Amino acid sequence: MNKLWPINQYSSGAKTVLKVFFHEHGSTKHKKDAVCTTIMKSARDEARNKHVSRGSDNPYDFETWEDHANIKFQIVDIMKGSHIRIIFTGKKFLSAVGTDAQHKDFTHHSMQLGPLKDRSPPTKSDRGTILHEFGHALGLDHEHQGPAARQLLQLNRALVEKYYEDDTHGQVLEEVENSELWNYTNFDIKSIMIYRLDEEWQEQTTKYEIGWVNKLSDVDQASIKLMYPPDLTKPENHEPFKKAMITAGVDRTTAGQMIADFEGNSEGTVAVRLGRLRDRFSKWKTLKRKLKENTDWHSFYNPNGDVLRYVDPASLKRSGINQFAGEVTKNKLFKSIMKNIVYRTMVQRGIPTNGSIPGATETEVTKLIAALSVHDKLGQLVKEHRVAFSGEDDNRDKTVTTTTEPLA
Ligand SMILES: [Zn+2]
Repeated sequence: MNKLWPINQYSSGAKTVLKVFFHEHGSTKHKKDAVCTTIMKSARDEARNKHVSRGSDNPYDFETWEDHANIKFQIVDIMKGSHIRIIFTGKKFLSAVGTDAQHKDFTHHSMQLGPLKDRSPPTKSDRGTILHEFGHALGLDHEHQGPAARQLLQLNRALVEKYYEDDTHGQVLEEVENSELWNYTNFDIKSIMIYRLDEEWQEQTTKYEIGWVNKLSDVDQASIKLMYPPDLTKPENHEPFKKAMITAGVDRTTAGQMIADFEGNSEGTVAVRLGRLRDRFSKWKTLKRKLKENTDWHSFYNPNGDVLRYVDPASLKRSGINQFAGEVTKNKLFKSIMKNIVYRTMVQRGIPTNGSIPGATETEVTKLIAALSVHDKLGQLVKEHRVAFSGEDDNRDKTVTTTTEPLA
């Protein structure tokens, strides 16, 4: 389920405005300033300008979510109607994830910044914590609990428990099943949404150096832009958005296609259109993850299989494919394309083509065809090869086939 805040249409343009309310109990001017200068561009810039005269190491020199997402935080005086409600009491740093903040369990507060120190300016670690909690508030979950990380990390429970105590299960080890909460297609060890996970706690062969992160990673910055996209009716926003897609792991063809599709369907307000684009990206990333995770390729061939639900029929149609991937793998045209690709690759790499092809068993070739059949780039390839293929004498194959079944 998607926990992203809706994009609204204002007279000034499409945007997500989030009202932030501070409970007075436990709050101080420094603590509130720490939050404001960390999450609001305007407050940060003002503080940075004031600090300029004090030397080059400016504590307000950092990137915030508002720099990259089409969002605006607004501090409000009344709790009613606010989206994020902060208390400065309690022992922990916690936040509701995205629109969960509207759940009845979070009526009093949706974010707890109990241990935040009363100091000005805030330290890098204070900022890191605030950016992390607001990452949750915008709809992100922990990077280390996401599907990409879970595939790569094997953690020693006892050692993790020694450090994280009660939080071990819920905040560290538990896999969060909701696949919409990560815009990351690859495991990002520099994400602000990750926890410290020492190499000694890791049991897999390839260890990762994962410490506390205090600033937004490139992927964090790119991903939040995709979750809260800029107004793409303005052409100057196309390039930065495309760049963000590529940083987040979208291939160039798909990135271009997403912008083209946005331009192609002008139904509704800009906010509605951006919402559609965001859903499309969400679907794409689910498909990407499914493909990556799907080691049992058998389910891939099954027309009722899970993966196929995420295959965009429009992309298949563009490739001239009206069949399910399962049928596609048996298609003569595809076998011909595969032979061609393998042959060309071998020629390009100087591999003699008269011997057996390493790694080109029937299963492996079929896997490759299946993967290709849901790839946008395929359309182009099919068009190229269709010409060559139709030039061949189709009946020649029929005469050597013993079966009487009609060919696809
Ligand atoms: Zn967290």
